[in-house]
Amino acid sequence: IAQMYQPIRQITRLSTRFSKASVSIERISEILDTEPDIQDPPDALLPKGLRGEIEFSNVSFAYPTGKSILRDISFHIQPGERVALVGASGAGKSTIARLLIRLYDPQQGRVRIDGIEVGRYQRAGLRREIGVVLQDSILFGTSIRENIGYGSPDATIEDIQAAALLVHADEFIRNLPDGYDTVLGESGGNLSGGQKQRLCLARALLRKSSILILDEPTSAVDAQSQALIRDAIDNLHGGKTVLVIAHQFHTIRNFDRILVLKQGVIVEQGSHEALMQMGGHYHELYKLQHGLRAA
Ligand code: ADP
Ligand code: MG
Repeated sequence: IAQMYQPIRQITRLSTRFSKASVSIERISEILDTEPDIQDPPDALLPKGLRGEIEFSNVSFAYPTGKSILRDISFHIQPGERVALVGASGAGKSTIARLLIRLYDPQQGRVRIDGIEVGRYQRAGLRREIGVVLQDSILFGTSIRENIGYGSPDATIEDIQAAALLVHADEFIRNLPDGYDTVLGESGGNLSGGQKQRLCLARALLRKSSILILDEPTSAVDAQSQALIRDAIDNLHGGKTVLVIAHQFHTIRNFDRILVLKQGVIVEQGSHEALMQMGGHYHELYKLQHGLRAA
């Protein structure tokens, strides 16, 4: 894991230096999109106007350094469907999100978006077309306005405010000394975990992508932010496909479908009620969480 976060830390440090030298945010994007080990094919497709259909078929995956993480994963998400992914820590949830935006290629099986294997798309384009809030999303040492607008060069300040309103971030931003022009410290410095998460969510929403992937943070987010983020997800319009990796079960009760991952295998899927009735792994995780919370 340390290996994986190392480049991100470096980028964060770089970005702070860049902002001090007032280097444009496009430079940072160049660095972020440059990962030498995965190349675009020569005839790469430009992913424009995706419908948002996601398909994993018989996907198995291991990180370059390690043991098998995902084993024969298959699921299909229709455009506009809202699906949650749950499972114990280390089950492979974030790995599924990473394969979807092609941070890695699977050793076996296919990952498809709109019926086309993700490897056939231009990778940088794919990142633009999918709104992603990963657990380790990046904030830059620039203004809040630039942080939310990152990746949406045509966005006006009104667009940026609208996105902030949607994720209930507008109020806390206005209360900062310089409002939307407040410059963040290194990797978001002075903000709480929940506030950072909401800025990243606003950035993802602003991109108007057809797919939104949200890897919810756990401990970093206070109860109030949890509730605000849940409300923002509930209020998403526009038929986006939403894949939420949920650590808090109350976030996902009214989702269309819940996929339950256990040690790299999808063991159950269904609605919250159906899964509770089944009395299997989901029920077990649910009891565990509520037991722990009561203690
Ligand atoms: P989850 O999100 O469900 O908690 P992850 O998908 O992050 O789980 O990780 C699944 C497993 O893969 C864990 O055992 C983790 O230690 C391992 N893992 C995650 N990232 C890497 C990496 N970059 N290199 C090697 N192993 C990793
Ligand atoms: Mg995770």
